[in-house]
Amino acid sequence: MSEFGFKVQAELTNSQGRAGVIHTPHGEIQTPAFIPVGTKATVKSVLPEAMKELGAQALLANAYHLYLQPGPEIVDEAGGVGKFMNWPGPTYTDSGGFQVLSLGVGFKKVIAMDEQTFRSDEVIADHKERLAHVDDDGVTFKSHLDGSMHRFTPEISMQVQHQLGADIIFAFDECTTLHNTRKYQVKSLERTRLWAKRCLVEHGRLTRERSAKPYQALWGVLQGAQYEDLRRKGAKDLSELNEDGISFDGFGLGGALDKENLGTIVSWMTEELPREKPRHLLGIGEPDDLFVGVENGADTFDCVAPSRQARTSAVFTKTGRVNLTNAKFNRAFVPIQEDCDCYTCTNYTAAYLNHLFRSKEMLASTLATIHNERFIVRLVDQMRQRLIAGDFHEFKKEFLGSFYSSNLKRSLA
Ligand SMILES: [Zn+2]
Repeated sequence: MSEFGFKVQAELTNSQGRAGVIHTPHGEIQTPAFIPVGTKATVKSVLPEAMKELGAQALLANAYHLYLQPGPEIVDEAGGVGKFMNWPGPTYTDSGGFQVLSLGVGFKKVIAMDEQTFRSDEVIADHKERLAHVDDDGVTFKSHLDGSMHRFTPEISMQVQHQLGADIIFAFDECTTLHNTRKYQVKSLERTRLWAKRCLVEHGRLTRERSAKPYQALWGVLQGAQYEDLRRKGAKDLSELNEDGISFDGFGLGGALDKENLGTIVSWMTEELPREKPRHLLGIGEPDDLFVGVENGADTFDCVAPSRQARTSAVFTKTGRVNLTNAKFNRAFVPIQEDCDCYTCTNYTAAYLNHLFRSKEMLASTLATIHNERFIVRLVDQMRQRLIAGDFHEFKKEFLGSFYSSNLKRSLA
C-alpha cells in the first residue's frame, strides 16, 4: 500500500477545491492535473517523449479497446501498458464500462439539458443498432471491430485491468444517461454498488496473486446522474465499502453530467468523499468545465477532446478555439498562440500549419495535438499554482473572460 498515496497541499476556502500530490509506483502527479488520453496505448500522432516534454504527468488508456486489440494478455507479457508504449510515468486505465455501455445507447458525457428532454430507458441514437445489453451480472456487447460477442463483468474488468497493469484502475460501473428515468437510476445505482463490492473482492484476490507486480490502486466510480440524493448516496456507499480490509484508493466521478449543473453535481459527491483520497473527473476537458471541476474538488481529469479536435484543425488560443484551415491563417507567420511555450509554437507558424492541414500532411495532426495538449495541461497546472498562491478565482475570471469573450460577443449580438 505504501506505493500509493495522496497528500493535500492547499485548499480553497468555501469550496472543496484543493492542490495535492498523488504517489504511484511510476512517479508522482501534482494535482490538479490534466491526464491526456492514449486510448489504444498511444496518444494519436505524438511520441511519448513529446508528451513528457509538453508536461503530461500521466496518460490514460482504455481497457475496452486494449481488451479487443491487442488483448490484455499481450500487454501483460510486455510488462504492462506503460512499458508496452514506452511511457515510464504513471498510467490510468478506465474500466471499459463507459465504452461498452455507450455501444448500447448514443450518449454524450456532458449533455446540455432542456425542458423538452424526454426520459426513457430505451433511448437509442437514431440509426444505431443496440450493441450492448446490461443485466445484474454484467454487460454483453458486440465488438465495434468485428461484430464478435463479448461479456464484461466486474471480475473480468478487474482481470483485464490487472493484466494491462496501469497504476490507477477503475471499478466497473453502469454508466446511465440523463435520459433514463429516476426509477432506473435508483436501480442502476444499487447495481453499481454491488459491482463495486465485487470489484474490490476480485481486486484483492488479484493483488495477492500478482504480488510481485507494482501496486495498482483501484478507484470506485460514482454515479447517480442529476439527482442530489442519489449522487450523495453513491459517494457515501462507495467510500464506506470495505471487503476484507480492502477499500477504494480513490474515486472516479462518472456518469452523464449536465453541463449547466456540473459544479453542483461534483460538489454533492466531493462533500461526501473522504478528504484524503484523490478524485478523477472522468471524460471532462473543456476549459470552463475544468475550472468548475477543480473548484469543486476534482484532482485529475481526462478527455479525448484536445487531441481529437487538433486532428480536425481546431486549436485552443487564449481568446477561444480557432480553425487553422481558415484562409485568414495562410499568411499568419506567427505562432498559434504568442506566449505558448509548446514545441509547435516555439518552432512553427500558424501559416505553416494552415498549409499542412490544407495539404492533408500527417505532421499537421502531430503539431496541432502537441499544442492543444500543452494548452490544456498548462491551464490545469496554472490552476494548481494559482490555487496554492491563493488567487484561483481571479485566474478563473481572467482566463474565462478572455477565452469565451468571442462567444459572449456572439450571444449578445
Ligand atoms: Zn503552442
